[in-house]
Amino acid sequence: MSNNFKNDVLSRRTFAIISHPDAGKTTITEKLLLFGGAIRDAGTVKAKKTGKFATSDWMEIEKQRGISVTSSVMQFDYSGFRVNILDTPGHQDFSEDTYRTLMAVDSAVMVVDSAKGIEEQTMKLFKVCRMRGIPIFTFMNKLDRQGKPPLELLAELEEVLGIESYPMNWPIGMGKEFLGIYDRFNNRVEQFRVDEGSRYIPLNKDGEIEGDHPLKNTGLYDQTLDEVLLLNEAGNEFSAERVAEGNLTPVFFGSALTNFGVQTFLDAYLKFAPPPKPRNSTAGEIDPLSENFSGFVFKIQANMNPAHRDRIAFVRICSGKFERGMNVNVPRIGKQVKLSNSTSFMAEERSTVEEAVSGDIIGLYDTGTYQIGDTITSGKDQFQFEKLPQFTPELFVKVMAKNVMKQKSFYKGIEQLVQEGAIQLFKTVRMEEFLLGAVGQLQFEVFEHRMKNEYNSDVIMERIGSKVTRWVEGDSVNENLSNSRSLLVKDRYGKYAFLFENEFALRWFEDKNPDVKLYNPMDMH
Ligand code: GDP
Repeated sequence: MSNNFKNDVLSRRTFAIISHPDAGKTTITEKLLLFGGAIRDAGTVKAKKTGKFATSDWMEIEKQRGISVTSSVMQFDYSGFRVNILDTPGHQDFSEDTYRTLMAVDSAVMVVDSAKGIEEQTMKLFKVCRMRGIPIFTFMNKLDRQGKPPLELLAELEEVLGIESYPMNWPIGMGKEFLGIYDRFNNRVEQFRVDEGSRYIPLNKDGEIEGDHPLKNTGLYDQTLDEVLLLNEAGNEFSAERVAEGNLTPVFFGSALTNFGVQTFLDAYLKFAPPPKPRNSTAGEIDPLSENFSGFVFKIQANMNPAHRDRIAFVRICSGKFERGMNVNVPRIGKQVKLSNSTSFMAEERSTVEEAVSGDIIGLYDTGTYQIGDTITSGKDQFQFEKLPQFTPELFVKVMAKNVMKQKSFYKGIEQLVQEGAIQLFKTVRMEEFLLGAVGQLQFEVFEHRMKNEYNSDVIMERIGSKVTRWVEGDSVNENLSNSRSLLVKDRYGKYAFLFENEFALRWFEDKNPDVKLYNPMDMH
């Protein structure tokens, strides 16, 4: 193995930013790209985004699709690292794609609005990261505004998310009185709204500013010192190992909008975030440093423009080196494929990728070869990576073909889209009605649009709202337990599941039927 290859792989940092809408993910992404020189002007990512949610007609959705392809992976070089940021859309884009993207990263950055604390979407995404045991780094954003007291924010991490934290720095005031951060990790104070030259004040070995400094005459600084003392004595200890296991989240305070604390965060993040790790497969662990190329498809982006039927399959490289034009196996279909039409995500525009290594994401133009979860290997290797987990749908619709004469294309379309992983299919046990399950509303819209455009099938979708889905252990269940509050269905593999009206209906059912063992696949990892 060449040293260059090894160094290339070890320099990869592949992560996703998770947050609730409006916490500042776009803003921080933009600042990171600026540091990496990937964009020239702040506002580039933003402009794309504003266009994205202007209206919701079909033209707009088509535009969105195009946009989200270019921005769903962003790659740049910084300080000897090659950084791959994977976008996990919030807003109405929230879907199973969002979750699967987290299967392709090695760590996650959680952006929290310090005035709002931990919000719903953050919680959901956090759970998925936790189930994978990946390291999570926290950025408490918007310190230039009045927010919750920092100690309260830490308490929320522990109480709401159940993760221990270690503040790498601590704010000195906030809102109008935000003066900067006390940087425990770098042993310095970083002042807000102060020129680069005098921005950093080193601390002595007692963690104090030496001599006279105007900052020392502020009550806010004294308060910070008191709180830091408390953290030193009663807080968690820093442990790179526990960070790597995903059991301790390093916490950074800052303000993405004013670009304060972002670089300090990035430097520390790159230091502790892991390079690509071995991944489980049917042939045991696959080492990212092994020479043979392998990867898996974690997302398929269908082009919504009917004039261009192509799709992009996003592949996370897990080992070896990708070279354009190479031949690979797709074990699921037992075929060899030549990877000639590929794209990378460096800089602002897509460019043809020539080479990429473990940790990188590449896009393959696809005309229907790949499915989500597919393993791709080179040489004679025929293993497959662990299956992508099944996500628990929360939203449901009943679906039918509008034109009964066109049942055939309806079934074909559903079958393919379900296989591709665009949406989940269930059948009610008695009537054999088709239900579609999703984690985000957009999945239904994309489904409807693709059925029409790709399979020439108009569908009728009837909302049946949100449900609490629980699968049934084993292969049998009394079908008479099905009623409107606990609807019994079969998934596409024929496994039984109940769709409960709400949490209350679930608990009531569990009380009444202790012998029916239920499970949520997302709690099992
Ligand atoms: P996203 O939905 O998570 O991508 O959030 P955005 O990055 O679009 O930010 C949402 C809003 O919060 C925008 O109006 C931003 O200008 C604002 N914002 C982001 N970061 C900060 C910050 O550090 N301070 C303040 N005051 N506003 C911020």
